[in-house]
Amino acid sequence: MYRYSRWGWQLKRRHSERKLLLGFPFCYSTPTPPENEKLASPGPPPIRVSITEMAGRGVFATRRIGSGDLIHTAKPLVSHPSLSSIHSVCYFCLRKLKPVTSSEDCNVRFCSQECEEQSKVFVAVERKADWSAYDDYCRTRGLKYPLLVKRLACMVVSGVASADCLDILQPASLSSEMISEMGEGFSLLQSAFMKAKARDECMAFLTEQWYINVLARFRINSFRIELAGGSYEDLHSLAAASVETEAAVGNAVYMLPSFYNHDCDPNVHIIWIDNVNARLKALREIEAGEELRICYIDASMDHDARQTILFQGFGFRCSCLRCSSGD
Ligand SMILES: [Zn+2]
Ligand SMILES: [Zn+2]
Repeated sequence: MYRYSRWGWQLKRRHSERKLLLGFPFCYSTPTPPENEKLASPGPPPIRVSITEMAGRGVFATRRIGSGDLIHTAKPLVSHPSLSSIHSVCYFCLRKLKPVTSSEDCNVRFCSQECEEQSKVFVAVERKADWSAYDDYCRTRGLKYPLLVKRLACMVVSGVASADCLDILQPASLSSEMISEMGEGFSLLQSAFMKAKARDECMAFLTEQWYINVLARFRINSFRIELAGGSYEDLHSLAAASVETEAAVGNAVYMLPSFYNHDCDPNVHIIWIDNVNARLKALREIEAGEELRICYIDASMDHDARQTILFQGFGFRCSCLRCSSGD
């Protein structure tokens, strides 16, 4: 049930290219190294968040943006490595790490002192509890969002995040069946903290309703992080090595990128080069006032498959120009 987090890459729209790319989703027109990248604006990003007629909030260009421009970057509110990557990426920024040689080193690792420093407080909280039952619950059921909930809970307990920090994001609408399935996760999370004798006053936020509210937001606002690696060769090898979710190093939720609406023929794409910090880039020229949209799913799918996944995963029927044309 938690399969539909936003995809980190989008396809260009031309038919010939789409066919070509069916088995090769990592296509960027110009794999420009970040340091040579042309920033759309040296100051604040050239965008504003406004209410749209059809889709609630949306992001709009405040001036003309050139094709290929980096519109803005974004740091996550919450992120977590996937369980399969937990020993091979930085526990904070998800940067890929050199493989460890000693088999006894099964602790989480960091790419830098800075990442270790930034995680210190919530990792200290996390280390006080035994998460084996909770992690097993995630692993056996293939769940990724409860890992984000666990990290957010540790961040709240340690005081580096507020319990309501995701409230501004839109929640998924949940069926009663989904809500009852979340009960087990909540009990495991709560009991891990209780067994660790967390102080009651720090735990007041941790109710089943909080757990459900947060999970409902992770469910439709999380991005699956696939690192592009910064070079075209890496994109090729990544694509060759990737089979569906295995390429993802983790998941993350952002503030501003969550306000972008979806389009099956997007004018903006979101990419990750070497860590969890997202880059929003213009796929073509964008005029002032135009809405900026990203593609939440694999754009190479046909019309019916896209509609099904968008409805099941995000709760809407897409009426973008591409869908309206029947493509
Ligand atoms: Zn790091
Ligand atoms: Zn569409």
